[in-house]
Amino acid sequence: MMERTEINELGEFGLIDRLTKNIEIKNASTVLGVGDDAAVIDPLGKQIVITTDLLLEGVHFDLTYTPLKHLGYKSIIVNLSDVYAMGATPTQVTVSIGISNRFGVEAIEEFYEGVYAACEKYDVDLVGGDTSSSQKGFVISVTAIGEVLADKFIQRNGANKSDLLCVSGDLGAAYLGLLFLEREKKIFMEAPKVQPNLEGEAYVVGRLLKPEARKDIISFFEKQTLVPTSMIDISDGLSSEILHLCKQSNLGCVLYEEKIPIKEEAKNAAFKFEIDPTACALSGGEDYELLFTIAQSDYEKLDSSIPITVIGYMTEPELGTHLITKGGSKHPLIAQGWNAMNK
Ligand code: ADP
Ligand code: MG
Repeated sequence: MMERTEINELGEFGLIDRLTKNIEIKNASTVLGVGDDAAVIDPLGKQIVITTDLLLEGVHFDLTYTPLKHLGYKSIIVNLSDVYAMGATPTQVTVSIGISNRFGVEAIEEFYEGVYAACEKYDVDLVGGDTSSSQKGFVISVTAIGEVLADKFIQRNGANKSDLLCVSGDLGAAYLGLLFLEREKKIFMEAPKVQPNLEGEAYVVGRLLKPEARKDIISFFEKQTLVPTSMIDISDGLSSEILHLCKQSNLGCVLYEEKIPIKEEAKNAAFKFEIDPTACALSGGEDYELLFTIAQSDYEKLDSSIPITVIGYMTEPELGTHLITKGGSKHPLIAQGWNAMNK
């Protein structure tokens, strides 16, 4: 049994101190971190991007199958993914938490272990936050700050007609991971003695519980001096994100089903649930891959050293947004995101 120290024993300031005492600043732009009324950041001639996400227990995560350490890690990753989607490099985060007395100090420390593991891996400084009690449920709010060379940030609205539509990594697995965990939870609720059976599902479950942000893709762009014309991260499912790029760039697109990257592990999992893996990629969510467009003339800059797949191309807006299936038929893309699949 894990040791349990009541939060009251430490008090708010004691808890904050315990959570933040080992911070070592990594970025030159972090002038002042945790410990004062505000942090101080010097952008060093660059522009700053800022993004924030709210994670609520019961809405965004379920503690019955989410280890706190993974949750801490993921809370950081989902924000870093947004910074990378701007073509920027994340440098600082703030983490604010609302905690009920259900948690002891050790549980909060476990959450922070995940937070710090992500900060370490992505070279980001934790520079502040806020701590409060919550009457019901665990509340997490993370803000990430990043740096980008002046006017080099990448927006959603910059795609041009004939640009290639590209995606990093593979899609659909996180949603299948969720289906497995939800199924096991249901079985557990009905028969608590039954051990969870996640045999063979490590990949899809890992994609949900321990996502990574595509720092490598941004480094690759730099190395190749490849500048995407538009970019977005995939949090709600491929079709919803494609529609954002099309709408904001005022274009249409053609997407080829056979090109959508889906791992064998995800296909097998989809098979077990008797659902279409393509639907998981299009409408699942939480893949945290990057979706972007590049000029056709930049095609040669892509190479096999990095997982980037061309899945379609941009067209005149009058042509609409379509998916060409493996069988060759043409369907309009609909924005049926993550939410639509769950509610
Ligand atoms: P204030 O009264 O101004 O809100 P706090 O006592 O809440 O100040 O915070 C003191 C310092 O600790 C600040 O630098 C704040 O950013 C930091 N901090 C508070 N809570 C957290 C947390 N959960 N994680 C990281 N830093 C925190
Ligand atoms: Mg405070």
